[in-house]
Amino acid sequence: MSQTLQSVRGMNDILPDEAEFWELFEDTIRSWLKGYGYRPIRMPIVEPTPLFKRAIGEVTDIVEKEMYSFEDSLNGEQLTLRPEGTAGCVRAVIQHGLANQVPRRLYYIGQMFRHERPQKGRYRQFHQVGVESIGFAGPDIDAEMILMGARLWADLGLDGIELQINSLGQSEERAQHRAALIAYFEEHAEILDEDAKRRLYTNPLRILDTKNPVLQDMCSAAPKLIDYLGEASLAHFEGVQRVLRDAGIPFVINPRLVRGLDYYNLTVFEWVTDKLGAQGTVCAGGRYDGLVEQLGGKSTPACGFAMGVERLIALIKESGGEPAAPAPDVYLVHQGEAASRLAFRVAEGLRDHGIDVLLHCGGGSFKSQMKKADGSGATFAVVIGDDEAVNGEAQLKSLREEGVEQRKLKVDDLAEAIIGQLIDSDEEE
Ligand code: ATP
Ligand code: MG
Repeated sequence: MSQTLQSVRGMNDILPDEAEFWELFEDTIRSWLKGYGYRPIRMPIVEPTPLFKRAIGEVTDIVEKEMYSFEDSLNGEQLTLRPEGTAGCVRAVIQHGLANQVPRRLYYIGQMFRHERPQKGRYRQFHQVGVESIGFAGPDIDAEMILMGARLWADLGLDGIELQINSLGQSEERAQHRAALIAYFEEHAEILDEDAKRRLYTNPLRILDTKNPVLQDMCSAAPKLIDYLGEASLAHFEGVQRVLRDAGIPFVINPRLVRGLDYYNLTVFEWVTDKLGAQGTVCAGGRYDGLVEQLGGKSTPACGFAMGVERLIALIKESGGEPAAPAPDVYLVHQGEAASRLAFRVAEGLRDHGIDVLLHCGGGSFKSQMKKADGSGATFAVVIGDDEAVNGEAQLKSLREEGVEQRKLKVDDLAEAIIGQLIDSDEEE
């Protein structure tokens, strides 16, 4: 026997029980986004590699070591499975001239790929909800994007998610801070790890984003970017904070919040929970005013955030939320040739009335079919044998209520009887 094949490490199947949970989650996400005027966009999962190098930055974890890149064997083109969605979204906005039109509030939901060490909350294929607004200079839109998060946590029944914010200022301000930062890190050269040494002169800000426990204290005491911000940057940051205070949203300013991608400026934020262990960031984003121009478009301010779907779903479960698996209204049991032919007609007829039907397939005794009907969670079984089929009749049996008589009905009367009883039982609840 040949060896069974497995999915790629860190890339998970989402089985029906779980996938139903995901669909309910996505329903909530879509109506939440609609409530803020966001419209969907769908980009390809594969993009040209240079897009990510230019957008995310060469000296970042993602570009240095996490991208699934390969050469198209037919034309030699360098391609990458998208590690995040902002680069592709901005590419699409430029390519289709959306920057100066409505819609400029956009969202997408989908797979992302990063070659990381798989662990709880960290996978090689994972999913993000990405939200981008293009052409707004803020700080109003930055603040609104943060308020959106607060509303979503409430919609999902989540609490205790801490909001951290920071400002990365503008590039001249970062340059001054950078010089101070390099001098500081040079003083601590003896404890720097490989990554930090390599980034010392290329991208020292990124060192603050390190996950290495040995470097935490030293990084916490490093010169703070906020002390290098000019008047305009400080006013922008203050503008965001004012809206948050007005809305009563608690936040902490985290000076080490620099984000793992190079394209951010001014406002950056993360929503963090302590209920998921080390992988506690469920949502992260910020302003990226330079990116549209950097990717060849006309200079356009923009802002966005992304949420990790796996982490949010884990958090919903951790918080006791478990939507009930949707069950069919009817399980249709049938035996005999005439009965089976009628069963198809009955099933389609019930569906015409909006009734969800699981038609038994694969034969078997009445007894074994009834077992499946019970296991399906259906509210009713509709049973058709050849005796019933001859007369155009079926048995309607309630599977959820004790002591309710099985009834023989004309098949044309089934839909009305089922709908009537579904409404009755809804009213009793
Ligand atoms: P981290 O610091 O945890 O590596 P990041 O800064 O690399 O996160 P972003 O690029 O900001 O993450 O992605 C936004 C969100 O996507 C994260 O906050 C997280 O919820 C989720 N995410 C990122 N990488 C993964 C992954 N490998 N597996 C699962 N979720 C992820
Ligand atoms: Mg990461």
